[in-house]
Amino acid sequence: MVDGLKIGRPKRDSDGVLYHPITCLNPKCRYHWEQAVEPFPKKCPKCKVDWSLLATRIKTLRAERGLSQAALAEKTGLSLEYIAKLEQGQRVSPSLPALVRIALALKVKLRVELDR
Ligand SMILES: [Zn+2]
Repeated sequence: MVDGLKIGRPKRDSDGVLYHPITCLNPKCRYHWEQAVEPFPKKCPKCKVDWSLLATRIKTLRAERGLSQAALAEKTGLSLEYIAKLEQGQRVSPSLPALVRIALALKVKLRVELDR
């Protein structure tokens, strides 16, 4: 899974309230909405895809291998901040090369499907 929810730059409405444009990156969905406050959702309200599953999966596999976030960062060559954000579901669109590094470090298969 390499898609997610895109959080756009915050804008102000006519009342001066700051809001964030959010777009679901599921190509079948592309739902767009705006919200004024955090936390940002991990689930798309329309297609119901839970983009935090990847975060949960990485966290679980890492823990099973007795690796700290710092150790995984070192093994993958990714920054500790990147790993932390990924596990917190804050970084919802990791690149495929980053996922390949993580899969190799965790010794798991990476499967990206374009399924029918
Ligand atoms: Zn969606």
